[in-house]
Amino acid sequence: MAYEVVMPKAGMAMEFGTIIKWLKNVGDKVEYGEPLLEIETDKTSMQVEAMNDGYLMSKLYDEGDEVPVVTTIGYIGQLGEKLPEGNDNVHDSKNLKEKESCDNCVDDRSESAKNEYDVVVVGGGPAGYISAIACARRGMHVAIVEKDSLGGTCLNRGCIPTKTYLKTAELIHGIYNVGQRGINIHEPSFDIDMKTVVAEKEKVVAQLVNGIKGLMRSNGIDVYSGEGKIYSDKTVRVNDDTILSADNVIFAGGSQASVIPIPGIDHKAVMLSDGILELTSLPESLVVIGGGVIGVEMASAFNAFGSKVTVIEMMDRLVPAVDAEISECLKKELTAQGIDIMTGIKIEKIEDHDGKAVICTDSGKKIESDKVLLSIGRKPDLSGLGNVDVNIDSQGRVLVDDHMRTNISWLYAPGDINGRVMLAHAAFSMAEVAAANCAGEEVRFKDAYVPSCIYTILEIGCIGKKEEELEHSDISIGRFAFGNNGRALASGEGKGFVKVITDKKTGEIYGVHIIGPNATEIINEASALMTMEITAYEVPSIVHGHPTYSEALMEAISDSVGASYHSPPKKKS
Ligand code: FAD
Repeated sequence: MAYEVVMPKAGMAMEFGTIIKWLKNVGDKVEYGEPLLEIETDKTSMQVEAMNDGYLMSKLYDEGDEVPVVTTIGYIGQLGEKLPEGNDNVHDSKNLKEKESCDNCVDDRSESAKNEYDVVVVGGGPAGYISAIACARRGMHVAIVEKDSLGGTCLNRGCIPTKTYLKTAELIHGIYNVGQRGINIHEPSFDIDMKTVVAEKEKVVAQLVNGIKGLMRSNGIDVYSGEGKIYSDKTVRVNDDTILSADNVIFAGGSQASVIPIPGIDHKAVMLSDGILELTSLPESLVVIGGGVIGVEMASAFNAFGSKVTVIEMMDRLVPAVDAEISECLKKELTAQGIDIMTGIKIEKIEDHDGKAVICTDSGKKIESDKVLLSIGRKPDLSGLGNVDVNIDSQGRVLVDDHMRTNISWLYAPGDINGRVMLAHAAFSMAEVAAANCAGEEVRFKDAYVPSCIYTILEIGCIGKKEEELEHSDISIGRFAFGNNGRALASGEGKGFVKVITDKKTGEIYGVHIIGPNATEIINEASALMTMEITAYEVPSIVHGHPTYSEALMEAISDSVGASYHSPPKKKS
């Protein structure tokens, strides 16, 4: 597939650009990010970079031409590819002709060749099922192998189940807070029926898993149930009996919870994240080992349900991956909600006391608990590797390039299995990249603007760089508190803030860090702005609905360039 080179819209007011100079000739090899041409707008001159690897196949406009924005000005493709109808193909089409003659072949596959596929996908989680659909929609014959349940960790034991729990927790917080809105609940006592909590979660999961099954059927994808193992002869063996062969294999085996090797870790009170989602009675006390995303989300939920929750984190702050100020605000909020938070503490061992777990820490403190959630991170599930000699790093992550390709040309590994960004939406994006490259396209995964969301009460949404990563840059910080946002206050949700980091000169948005109501939704607007390279100077002219939570983002970005009307004026430096 040839990719268009487009006259960019490099500013809200830009309507035309003039081509000053082509920096590549037709037929030249180009790499992603390499400058292709120089253009001039009414305000500035700039270089247009290649968005794909390949060869410059044609230039549709000459130097000096004035071209409307978002007009196709050239094509990048692979040798032998055809240009879209009406454009001259400048390359000899040897490869293409070979492919075309094959396309005309009659499908004379024998019975024994029935298990031959263009692509076999191992693993039916977000990375696997999206890869399979993306390949099938490109006309490939696809099989997917799943050893447990389609939908993977995300649907069955991760993103979705935990969010059903957190919605219940949010409702409980609502019950506590109705008094301030004049709703008097008499005899305000309630208890939580964990069997119903689990049943509700299972209902949601079943509906979504059925949806994935339907998608497999409607896209003509063959589903094999069982453990798949990948072999160097381009086969995948399912449960060691069925053999599937493929031109390309996508290994999307995902990840499993990590376990620390400390004495007593096999105590019956200790659970992993899968286990806590199966509890049908509420523990009176819960210790969460690990204050990362999963740890704080489950602490938030079980604290609202009524357990006495303690979080123990080895690092000096909760969720160390987020901005330090956000982490501090989360700690204050969770503490105010009644959770005990201990940071900078290591667990030495777990002892037994009459069936309860006693957590012994390096500070000498011992905490007795009915249940313990161990949530210290996740590691790739390599069970899908047969005899294939794929490169893996010291932490068991399958090494891939930006095309999601491993060291083996026909083997791709998107999603948690490569450990680059262990999030479901990143897995979707990597899957699309892997499928495109299987189809011979040249597409790269870009992880710079993948948002991270944490669904605690308060929610967190982050994207891009943290302040501490930009210490030596010429940056400007913009802020806006939800306490000054009309919609948040009207909803009784005035806690938290938006923090934005931009470039002092150019207004480029480097990072957005939000803690507060709807942070996990608002962050998607930040993702759109950053992906589209909208600068902080342009944001104030984007009209936002009022009153909305997302006005807080607009105000914080505007504040970074001194243009927020609802913030105090910035002192001139
Ligand atoms: P997985 O979802 O792990 O899927 C891999 C699949 O491959 C599994 O179904 C497995 O059974 C199958 N498999 C493995 N080996 C084989 C084999 N040999 N043969 C056949 N099948 C095999 N991410 C977010 O973005 N947002 C969230 O809110 C969020 N919350 C989470 C909460 C929890 C408690 C957990 C544990 C994770 C959460 N995540 C969240 C992370 C998210 O679930 C993962 O990033 C995502 O599921 C990764 O998708 P994947 O397809 O790479 O792997």
